Amino acid sequence: MAQTICRTCGTQYPDPARLPDLCPICADDRQYVGDDGQTWTSLDELAKDRTIRFSRLTDRLYDLRITPAFAIGQRAFLIRSEGGNILWDCLPFLDPPTTAFIRSLGGLKAIAISHPHYFSLMAEWTETFDCPVYIHENDRQWVMNPTDRVEYWSGPRQPLWDGIIVVNTGGHFPGSCVLHLPDETGHFLLTGDSIYVTRDRKSVTFMYSYPNLIPLPKREIEQIRDRLDGFSFDRIYGAFEDQNIEADGRAIFDQSIRRYLQIFE
Ligand SMILES: [Zn+2]
Ligand SMILES: [Zn+2]
Repeated sequence: MAQTICRTCGTQYPDPARLPDLCPICADDRQYVGDDGQTWTSLDELAKDRTIRFSRLTDRLYDLRITPAFAIGQRAFLIRSEGGNILWDCLPFLDPPTTAFIRSLGGLKAIAISHPHYFSLMAEWTETFDCPVYIHENDRQWVMNPTDRVEYWSGPRQPLWDGIIVVNTGGHFPGSCVLHLPDETGHFLLTGDSIYVTRDRKSVTFMYSYPNLIPLPKREIEQIRDRLDGFSFDRIYGAFEDQNIEADGRAIFDQSIRRYLQIFE
């Protein structure tokens, strides 16, 4: 199979004959080009020694990770809901056992992705599950493998079904989003890199670039604060496996915003 997947970020490109010299996602200062320069791989090559592992976090929430890890190493989330299941964020891999497992839980009604670092293999996933993928209009330029299944949305919020809402926070990318989910045991947020859970899980942070440690200007932090005004949530799940905040998420978020804004005083 053609080598069209960037090894550093996991973004898939449509045409092996027209690959860029450098993957634009990696050439951007919110990512980096690997130490060996630009290299490519294929789904077949990845399938030789990789699979996707599911962990059940609650009755309705699973996280999915490629193992052994590949590219950025983010997780995606499968949320089961009465009106249909949703995949939050995406992975640069998909294999038949993963497809079969998700189908056994009812398939996918839609995919929603927090930002371009996790667009990855979205064309493959939307095709397999015959569903739309929600991407914020502000990040349209970063879609490297366009498909007519992309639903570009605009504005601060996109309500889905069963009270599930995609919220555009901006910050990391202009189209960066989080997913807010109502739940009987406490509402929760899936945040990608839009809200980044820190190592001790007692705070969150917000960066323009995580690998290059470039902070955000004040106006972006204020926008993130304002876009989440009025939402209640207890739990926060970031993009990586050690990023689960199990309680007091709203207070942790508010405190973290206040501390960030103090820097500008
Ligand atoms: Zn890349
Ligand atoms: Zn990112």
